[in-house]
Amino acid sequence: MSILSTFDLTGRTAIVTGGYRGLGLAFARGLAEAGADIVIGARDGAASQEAARDLAEETGRRTRGIALDVTDPASCEAAVAAAVELGGGFEVLVNNAGACFHAPALDVTAQELRTVLDTNVGGVFEMSRAAARAMIPAGRGSIVNIGSMSGDIVNRPQLQPIYNASKAAVHHLTKSLAMEWAEHGIRVNAVAPGYVKTEMAPVDDPSLRQRWIDDAPMKRYAMPEEIAPAVLFFASDASSFATGSVLTVDGGYTVV
Ligand code: NDP
Repeated sequence: MSILSTFDLTGRTAIVTGGYRGLGLAFARGLAEAGADIVIGARDGAASQEAARDLAEETGRRTRGIALDVTDPASCEAAVAAAVELGGGFEVLVNNAGACFHAPALDVTAQELRTVLDTNVGGVFEMSRAAARAMIPAGRGSIVNIGSMSGDIVNRPQLQPIYNASKAAVHHLTKSLAMEWAEHGIRVNAVAPGYVKTEMAPVDDPSLRQRWIDDAPMKRYAMPEEIAPAVLFFASDASSFATGSVLTVDGGYTVV
């Protein structure tokens, strides 16, 4: 088998949560380009459907866009059912959906605390459990969690204490689930991006630029397409011996 062919996802179906914009859309596109059929799910079902339609036109893959709230276990089960229905084999889950609020600790509201933890930690857990229930009988699957460099370092001016803690939890949950499900042929890994230009990260904001970008070794932020290959690596057989790994892709930010 050639090494390049291990990235091929033909005949496999992937769910990308939060896949209609930002990083999630780049992940969905990358997996589709590698041959996977794709389910895109986010709370905005109409935006998910539109992105899925565009992706099908672009790549010729089978796609489906659905309304999904990762904080609701029944909604997670429904997303997995949609992936199984799409045909092929449901083998890949990318837990990309995330929530973030920028505020000093004393200003974080109870609602913001719950939203960030329920989405970033509870959502990864419930989506992974729903996926594992379908993957275990098949004896194979790959779950890719989107963590963050914020799970490893506290970049002081960021003022996102709960987000940072939630991403540290994602990294640890990745290792725990990898350990638990290895015997079932399910690999669980994480990608920890640095600053990426999306709606979540206002990287062009002049007041943040000095702190976020000029301090970075590569003096720039990433575009979503620069993170997608790392997700494809973990999603595919190219990473067949990797589980419980957290791959940092941050332009060297956490090195300094
Ligand atoms: P965006 O805000 O652009 O996208 C977040 C996506 O998550 C949206 O599609 C949103 O859709 C979806 N989402 C939020 N809550 C839920 C929910 N309860 N159920 C289902 N979907 C939900 O952010 P990014 O693309 O920047 O972020 C993607 C991931 O990458 C996140 O996990 C983020 O923490 C992580 N990350 C981002 C970095 C960056 O610099 N941009 C750096 C490191 C990590 P909807 O609101 O319709 O539900």
